[in-house]
Amino acid sequence: SGDSGEKETYTVATDANFKPFEYKDPDTGEMKGFDIDLMKAIADEAGFNVEFKSMQFDGLITGMQSGRYPLAIAGISITEERKESIDFSDPYYDSGLILMVQSDNEEIQSIDDVDGKEVGVKTGTTSEAYLKENTEAKIKAFPQIINAYMDVRNGRVDASLYDKPNVEFYIQESGEGELKTVGETLQGESYGIAMEKGSDLVEPVNEALATLKENGTYDEIYEKYFGKKP
Ligand code: GLN
Repeated sequence: SGDSGEKETYTVATDANFKPFEYKDPDTGEMKGFDIDLMKAIADEAGFNVEFKSMQFDGLITGMQSGRYPLAIAGISITEERKESIDFSDPYYDSGLILMVQSDNEEIQSIDDVDGKEVGVKTGTTSEAYLKENTEAKIKAFPQIINAYMDVRNGRVDASLYDKPNVEFYIQESGEGELKTVGETLQGESYGIAMEKGSDLVEPVNEALATLKENGTYDEIYEKYFGKKP
């Protein structure tokens, strides 16, 4: 730091269970994904180094609320509630929630049909909050979404609710023919990089993000994980 002219290294909290935003390469154990590449590019642009630390999502949110980590990137939806205790960068990805059921399920066609049904979610996420606030579903929360997905597959729950890009990725990767999404995309949500409340990093992170959007780097990273932009 400072007079040595060396770059500062910041720990970035993440939850490497959210394809294609952050995940561990099964062969090398290396952290990969859209968020990982974007965060590295932002750090490069803003002149600091990053070191990723993976943890359970609800612990990550609590950690950020108490200022335990300077930065977090984990497809974290910017919400009014979280903004009370965490600062966010400008939005970097527009998302939303979607229901998933078995392909032959005719009973659940939208969120209006989940009252009294068992719905799997990931603990501490916006999906869990959405179900609590808007439905009478029986919520089954798991530390990792894969367990909710498995329960939908084997019929132990009726549906799962989670971030649309991850649900679509999962169906494409391993649920084709067996699983489907139903209903509309719920609750437009945008992802932001989380920072400690009052952090000096908010401005440089936002400036770097804007530069990457202007100079094509953001689009390159986007296309690497999601294909050509519509
Ligand atoms: N976007 C969701 C949230 O912020 C879920 C993120 C995640 O599971 N990594 O609650």
